Amino acid sequence: MTPAAIKSDAITSERSATPAEIVAAIRAVVGPSEKPVQLHEPKFTGNEWAYVKDCIDTGWVSYNGAYVAKFEQMLCDLTGAASCAAVANGTVAIEIALRVAGVKADEEVLSPSLTFVATNNAIAHVGAVPHFVDSDERTLGMDPAALADYLKDIAELTDGGARHRRTGRRIAAILPMHVFGHPVDMDALNEVATRWRIPVIEDAAEAIGSTYKGRAAGNLAPIAAMSFNGNKIITTGGGGAILSQDPEVGKRIRYLTTTAKQPHPWEFIHDEIAWNFRLPNINAAMGVAGLEQLPQLLEAKRRVQERYERIFAGMPGVSVFRETEGSRSNYWLSALLLDAPDLARRDSVLQACHDAGLMTRACWRLSHHLPMYQDCPRMPLDVAERLQPRIINLPSSPFLGQT
Ligand SMILES: *Cc1c(COP(=O)(O)O)cnc(C)c1O
Repeated sequence: MTPAAIKSDAITSERSATPAEIVAAIRAVVGPSEKPVQLHEPKFTGNEWAYVKDCIDTGWVSYNGAYVAKFEQMLCDLTGAASCAAVANGTVAIEIALRVAGVKADEEVLSPSLTFVATNNAIAHVGAVPHFVDSDERTLGMDPAALADYLKDIAELTDGGARHRRTGRRIAAILPMHVFGHPVDMDALNEVATRWRIPVIEDAAEAIGSTYKGRAAGNLAPIAAMSFNGNKIITTGGGGAILSQDPEVGKRIRYLTTTAKQPHPWEFIHDEIAWNFRLPNINAAMGVAGLEQLPQLLEAKRRVQERYERIFAGMPGVSVFRETEGSRSNYWLSALLLDAPDLARRDSVLQACHDAGLMTRACWRLSHHLPMYQDCPRMPLDVAERLQPRIINLPSSPFLGQT
């Protein structure tokens, strides 16, 4: 072999996988299909139809129904939370969780910039201000160590709790989000929160069935929110839940989401401006049927993830994101990570996938790049800035490729 040939071999081995190679690998995992392969599609193979029909046959279609109570109990059993209220969607679940945790208008909530927009919308709906925290490359979620350093610089502890010195506003809550089902490093985060006396609320919208050190997502903080939107692992069409570790807090949540109505057989007594956010029985019926199948769904999704890991293992310039030691992800969405933040390369991969009928997706725009949140306070977001353009979500429906 001539030196020139050796040199060109070396260059070839450092090259990155082409979009066509990435498309071929995804196709090998998802199998042939005539229709476009969606990012995450629901699969109803259990009692959904029977339970929904039961609601209609019995007339119990609204929120006073047995499936609502059953769904809430099943979520408590799954997570170990003390109480649960099923609500209209995940966004209002976060909003009520924030309110019950004591967040008020003109206060700040520490939240990730790398999240679905609903996390920060919920903060804004309370009239509070998102205060963005950087991400941890190992979990994709909030970075507790970076937050600890940052708070030392910008916050002070007063009788009324933590205060942001520059704005004078109270820092009223920390709202971590478990990205694609990967739990945040909650022990480290809870330690920071305790030190600063800031309540933690989990945005566990994507994390049903995930665990952190053996504990279930949704029960890693005093209050948590979940979503059962159509693209989540368990769907009620639209829906959400607020979980809490304290039964008294649970009662307050139920009260606020049911127009603050005092129990009475015929009188309408309301003593607060509150909300009608409860989940209808028809939707809860789907949720019960879905939860009955959760173990099989999680298993099927893990198999899809493992096949992605295997097929991308030797491919240069890309890797498949994996759960961290001690955590078990539900692998809601599998994610391909490009080695470098290169938007042009990312978009050429996305374009090639879409041309081939594979509905891969870019990660959400960072919240601080969205017009309504661009002026919010934030720490340096270098990790999130570098991570976001590297992420491509892969088709992740359970049972993909197992036709
Ligand atoms: C889906 C989701 C929500 C919102 O849930 P909806 O039920 O769609 O309102 C909130 N936060 C995150 C991180 C989500 O992925």
